Amino acid sequence: MKNTFDIAIIGSGPGGYRAAIVAALRGKRVAIIEKDHWGGCCLNRGCVPKKAWHDTATLIKKSQTFNKRGLTGRLQGDLQQSWQHQRSVVTTTQTNYLNYLSHLKVTKYQGTASFLTPQHLCIKQSDRTKITLTAKNMIIATGSSAKPMQSLPWIENRVLSTDMLFDSPPPTGHRVAIFGSGVVSTEMAFILSQYNKQISWLVRAPPLSTSRFSQPGLKALNTALTSAHTHWQQYHQFISMTVNDNDITLTFDNLPPITVDWILLGMGRSPYSDSLQLNNIALTLDPHGFIQRNHHLQTQHKNIYAIGDCANPNMTANHALAEASYAINHILGTSQPAYQPQWVPQVIYSATEMARIGWNDDQAEDRGFEPAIGFSSFQVSPCAMGQEATHGHVRLLAELETGRFLGGEIVGEQAGELIHGLTTSQAPAQQLKTIVNTRYNHPSRMEEILNASETLASQWGLEQFIFNDTN
Ligand SMILES: Cc1cc2nc3c(=O)[nH]c(=O)nc-3n(C[C@H](O)[C@H](O)[C@H](O)COP(=O)(O)OP(=O)(O)OC[C@H]3O[C@@H](n4cnc5c(N)ncnc54)[C@H](O)[C@@H]3O)c2cc1C
Repeated sequence: MKNTFDIAIIGSGPGGYRAAIVAALRGKRVAIIEKDHWGGCCLNRGCVPKKAWHDTATLIKKSQTFNKRGLTGRLQGDLQQSWQHQRSVVTTTQTNYLNYLSHLKVTKYQGTASFLTPQHLCIKQSDRTKITLTAKNMIIATGSSAKPMQSLPWIENRVLSTDMLFDSPPPTGHRVAIFGSGVVSTEMAFILSQYNKQISWLVRAPPLSTSRFSQPGLKALNTALTSAHTHWQQYHQFISMTVNDNDITLTFDNLPPITVDWILLGMGRSPYSDSLQLNNIALTLDPHGFIQRNHHLQTQHKNIYAIGDCANPNMTANHALAEASYAINHILGTSQPAYQPQWVPQVIYSATEMARIGWNDDQAEDRGFEPAIGFSSFQVSPCAMGQEATHGHVRLLAELETGRFLGGEIVGEQAGELIHGLTTSQAPAQQLKTIVNTRYNHPSRMEEILNASETLASQWGLEQFIFNDTN
């Protein structure tokens, strides 16, 4: 029947897109509705363009060691050209996404969806016509929006959110102030500093200090930032912003005035569900605006799931993707372990890559575990030496009594790829065993995961659990 589906998905970011693909691959009749740019924040203004810039910034940074490696010259960044490059990556990926949806016979609607009943949506299209759609199950994946700050309002080409930076070619001035000490600011401060920008990075607290990375991890980040000439300044209170014709002056209670050409605000996003008319189906939000759901990701209506930024304060594409798979499995009745967000990897792309999964030391202790620690530094890795990238480490935690994997952190080049070495087993009790029984390429950075696991087993007397030793 026309406009009748097994599953209707609202939003085409990583959460919505993956849910649509997985459901269609498994034989369901699927609709996906997008009101703005196909691919959501992640593709258009987040992970994908940022990763392209990070890769370029890392090449520029690495060129500091070119002479030592027998290469001559030094790379120089051109942010305007890099902006064009990320646009072409985004446009091509978007075309590929849309083609794949068509190939899988997913019905795409361009318009704004709102609820009429728990099984009916109204889609308002750009020409103002409306369509009513019926679906047995719904997935809300409406994402988040950039959070404005009262004291620093956005001004086109002068005071930018990251959305504005990726939407239009960047302003040309060299002096840039970046506010914030969270993930996005820590990434963008490094990236822009490699493009010869003179960065004033202004923070209330040290970078990532509220994250779950370990103290050695944060120390390694600071060392990498310093070697990339990316420095932060801590302010107590922001006093004022004066926007002149040619520049902007910022004043603080504890710093001398700072004059810049433009400002980037990387300070957080708010969950977005405004246009859904949730009151029509009596769905409630928590006090921070996130859609409430149970541990199967179902809202008060069991046929309506909420995934990604609109429901999960972690606000990463990695969580949106993991939740999409979980929700589709749940709809299809697939047997799966309960959804455990701590087993979704978190990755930071800054002066060094940082990746982590599971509990950190404090979280493990809070849960009554006594953690044993396994450590390996890339300084001993012949692969890392050849790459002139010996910075960083692998740090693993296991339960002292049983060798059960509790969590792990990888800092250094390619940490965002290496973290998959810690996700190879669904059962934490099997993870370190799986690592020590895997075959590795030599020389490779992955070998340091093996090294840290073996060291952990031997140092803490966990051989019987991790190596299966019987004597
Ligand atoms: C600069 C930056 C860098 C980032 N880098 C990373 C990274 O490296 N790794 C990572 O994991 N995460 C990263 N993130 C976070 C990541 O982008 C988000 O967590 C992710 O996009 C959330 O996915 P989502 O599917 O929940 O929602 P979104 O990607 O926000 O997509 C939601 C979509 O729903 C649409 N929509 C909303 N309401 C309606 C409606 N009523 N009808 C129809 N459509 C609607 C919106 O238009 C939007 O396209 C980054 C974010 C930023 C800002």
